[in-house]
Amino acid sequence: MATLTLTEENPPEIGHAATDEARWRDNPRLARVPQVHPETLVSSDSRAVIVAPHPDDEVLGCAGLLMHLARSGHEILLIAVSDGERSHSSESAFSSDLLSHVRPAETSVALTALGIGNITIMRAQLPDRRVGEHQRKLQDLLGAYLQRSDVVFASWHRDGHPDHEAVGLASRDAARAIGCRLIEIPIWMWHWRTPDHQDIPWQRARKLALDPDMQARKKAALECYRSQLEPDRSTGNAAILPPEVLAHFQRDFEIYFV
Ligand SMILES: [Zn+2]
Repeated sequence: MATLTLTEENPPEIGHAATDEARWRDNPRLARVPQVHPETLVSSDSRAVIVAPHPDDEVLGCAGLLMHLARSGHEILLIAVSDGERSHSSESAFSSDLLSHVRPAETSVALTALGIGNITIMRAQLPDRRVGEHQRKLQDLLGAYLQRSDVVFASWHRDGHPDHEAVGLASRDAARAIGCRLIEIPIWMWHWRTPDHQDIPWQRARKLALDPDMQARKKAALECYRSQLEPDRSTGNAAILPPEVLAHFQRDFEIYFV
């Protein structure tokens, strides 16, 4: 997940304030989304390939799924598209060089907090905030790694964030070319869209339940992304992931577009 700074520079086409978690919590369409069993998302003989635009999207979007898959012994490949090196302003003491080391390391610690040991991570190192310029390169890279029996999980191609949408489109095209299944994950949608937005594919939505232990682990894993959670003292800028954004990712379920 990139920064609020980014969204200020590249505002979504919708012209309203961020959506409060209470609005989603009270929404009947979200309440009616059917539950799905993890084995229905990824059968026992399939590998799960997670395509994450930035370090933190893998936990924000699908920590619960990762824990379910790890418990059942699934093979997991995480493709980290960018290192999230431009999450802070150019004046920040968190330089791009520093963040390109710090943020992938935060992912490693967070995955440990989730109890995910058996995972392969491939860092594509495409430029943060400019993934769209490299969409074809990403598609080709995914094509080189994917197998027909894989299930690919990628950010939703209408997620309201340029990098997330480029990842969604590249993943869709790569999965289609190989013949593997694609499942999309909304992340920025919870922040920038409203429940009545016409693009939300409610008929494709499925709800994956997280038990209390999984919820606690997800919360602990999110706390590992320190660079995104704390105010930037060098610039005085606010935290990139403030509590009102994190609230969308502390539910007892995750939503997947199948
Ligand atoms: Zn992201």
